[in-house]
Amino acid sequence: MTRTESPDIAHIARPYLYGGEEAAIASALSAGQYNHGALTEEFEQRIAAFLGVPDVVAVASGTAALHVALLAAGVGPGHEVLVPSFTFCATVQAIVATGARPRFIEVDPGTCCVEAAEVLGALTPDTRAVMPVLYGGRAVDLAPARPALDEQGVTVVEDAAQAFGSWQQERRVGATGEVTCFSFGPVKNLTCGLGGAIVPRTPMEADTYRQLRGLGIIESAARRAETTTYTVDGFGMRVQMSPLNAAVGLVQLDHFAEAETRRRALWRAYAAALDGVGGVVLVDADVEHTVPPMCAVRVLDGRRDEVFRALRKRGIGVGVHYPPNHTQPAFAQWHRPLPLTERLGREVMTLPFHQHLTEADARHAADELRQVLAAGAGR
Ligand SMILES: *Cc1c(COP(=O)(O)O)cnc(C)c1O
Repeated sequence: MTRTESPDIAHIARPYLYGGEEAAIASALSAGQYNHGALTEEFEQRIAAFLGVPDVVAVASGTAALHVALLAAGVGPGHEVLVPSFTFCATVQAIVATGARPRFIEVDPGTCCVEAAEVLGALTPDTRAVMPVLYGGRAVDLAPARPALDEQGVTVVEDAAQAFGSWQQERRVGATGEVTCFSFGPVKNLTCGLGGAIVPRTPMEADTYRQLRGLGIIESAARRAETTTYTVDGFGMRVQMSPLNAAVGLVQLDHFAEAETRRRALWRAYAAALDGVGGVVLVDADVEHTVPPMCAVRVLDGRRDEVFRALRKRGIGVGVHYPPNHTQPAFAQWHRPLPLTERLGREVMTLPFHQHLTEADARHAADELRQVLAAGAGR
């Protein structure tokens, strides 16, 4: 086996701690913060301030954020939700959890993101929501579809699980007026361990999210302090963000500038090292505006699986994001032919990408990829 420069390169993704996270958990525990509480509220306020929005609702995961946002938009049985097949299965499971049907749509092969024209072409009278996925952290602009969506009362729920910190023009993703869902899972740009958040469009929407995440109980700290009872005013799950996770997220947020710099530098190192290499194409991340959570390439000429195995043998942690969802057994009843996505499913490969890696590591991984491609070329 070829020796790698750093053992970190064997990992596709790996959480990064800045120091201080463990102490923050310990002090939350000694302050008796186990359930929803002050730290979670502080995390919400700090995230809102970072994004430049009035309010943010924290939940237990990115998947829970998507589920809650769809329920609050009134999505349920009989409805259809437009979603790219080329996403993490969580996006689709959130739709299925509401009782609605996913309608799988294509993405642009250059960016792996949905485009307005595709959304417009897939609208039906049953469509109640659209979920653009910000693949690789890249912002998606559905403005050209807006009039048609508004006319039909279709809610856009952005799956920005990978896009915390990214920009859409002069505003952060989350501050552009959409319902936006973030994930703070272990391998995202900012981690809480597990966690997620939803950016509401109105204070009323925020109330609905809070009720849905917390057993349907109308939340009011003042009220809870004054009375011995509580009011359950509708359906609700138990998907609040634990203060222990919020404590981790608060430390991570203090250091977020470091994540932005490192992740952009890594992505650019890959782009420079792969420039001019035949048989492989970078998925365009728009890195000027994106805080990338990963680096995806397309391996051409039907060689992805072979190249993938050869790189793994050389100790390079490559991955596949994602096997298309419309070909998954769980979602077979909603299958429709999606040739572009099926092709991406055979071509896309992700390279080692996390904050433990240096630019030299990225150049090393890119060089291994170049060697593997050259070795098998011309057969
Ligand atoms: C990570 C991710 C999710 C799910 O977030 P969790 O916090 O793991 O529940 C959803 N969609 C996409 C695109 C993701 O990358």
